[in-house]
Amino acid sequence: MSCLSSLQPSTTARSCLRATVHRCHSLSPAPLPPPRFLLRLPNLRRLTIRSLDAAQPYDYEARISDRFHKSTKLKIAIVGFGNFGQFLAKTLIRQGHTVLAHSRSDYSGVADTLGVSFFSDADDLCEEHPEVILLCTSIISTERVLRSLPLQRLKRSTLFVDVLSVKEFPRNLFMQILPSDFDILCTHPMFGPESGKDGWNGLPFVYDKVRIGSEQSRVSRCERFLDVFATEGCRMVEMSCVEHDRYAAGSQFITHTMGRVLEKLKLETSPINTKGYETLLNLVENTASDSFDLYYGLFMYNKNALEQLERLDLAFESLKKELFGHLHDVLRKQLFGQAEGLVVPEERPILSELPSNGIALPPPSGSVNAQSN
Ligand code: NAP
Repeated sequence: MSCLSSLQPSTTARSCLRATVHRCHSLSPAPLPPPRFLLRLPNLRRLTIRSLDAAQPYDYEARISDRFHKSTKLKIAIVGFGNFGQFLAKTLIRQGHTVLAHSRSDYSGVADTLGVSFFSDADDLCEEHPEVILLCTSIISTERVLRSLPLQRLKRSTLFVDVLSVKEFPRNLFMQILPSDFDILCTHPMFGPESGKDGWNGLPFVYDKVRIGSEQSRVSRCERFLDVFATEGCRMVEMSCVEHDRYAAGSQFITHTMGRVLEKLKLETSPINTKGYETLLNLVENTASDSFDLYYGLFMYNKNALEQLERLDLAFESLKKELFGHLHDVLRKQLFGQAEGLVVPEERPILSELPSNGIALPPPSGSVNAQSN
């Protein structure tokens, strides 16, 4: 109450009184100081009236709204504030969560514009006691980053979440490194800044509640985190990390590989693009916007990826064999057809050698008519 003794009827003084009264009320529901005390102050009427808008113990509306806000919003620390970390931060901020960030590079400028508090020092970040640590580092740097975090500065039972595009690896890492008090949720939003730029409605979000304590507060914290994605309309898919990696190698890894192979072909748009070709160009564009670290991580840290790469290789080889097999048949017929009594189309040109890569085979006679029909 020391500020009351020097109180003048100024705006600052009135705020001071309001703040003091508010503080007294939030500490204990004691009534206002007796009027005798207030009488000694100049301009009592204005002070008394102004103090009416201070939160009162019976101001249930304000209290309930405050409690509701606190019960639904989270304090989330993003570790790894690169491309994907920033992409997620925008939605978290829009939803009203408090977002902190830490990264190897200095992103304080970007963080400022997004409304995120940036911490260059991991100790400072952890001392803020976030409820959730959201790991958005590259797959290949995750172990180093996780081991470098000062876990002892965090609250016990902090929830650790990752968004890595592989799942068994971070799951095992979390189980191995994090103290048993910490909760673990492994997730994979199956979209990125490019595919999710127009909203997340209908996009799949995979998660595995690896270790969530049974206390109500811990269960509810995990649900509130999942709600970030559910409320955006994501298709929520609960799936084990092992299962995720099996499916993802056969879908996501193949997609990225094809995108990168096509990128090497340096495809160009043409005046007669078919829909299928447009799809390929889009695939290249989508893939190229992801870092090579991400792609390399998909290969190195998903044990099913190598098998998929080999299958892809075999499929390509078998397709080539099929084509060359047909070609061989035609050549054989042309070379030995008459001797063997086979009918060979006469006007068919004889191929002296295989056409070089990228150059189409001459069409068989009659095919021009067939195509134009
Ligand atoms: P990324 O290249 O996989 O990761 C970039 C992030 O990793 C940056 O925050 C970067 O920090 C950090 N990093 C890289 N090397 C580091 C090192 N040696 N030490 C410390 N930090 C390091 O690209 P991303 O697209 O942002 O992906 C981040 C995570 O999200 C990945 O695990 C990825 O699998 C996952 N994910 C991405 C997408 C997507 O569409 N992009 C979708 C779903 C999930 P600095 O920037 O500070 O250097």
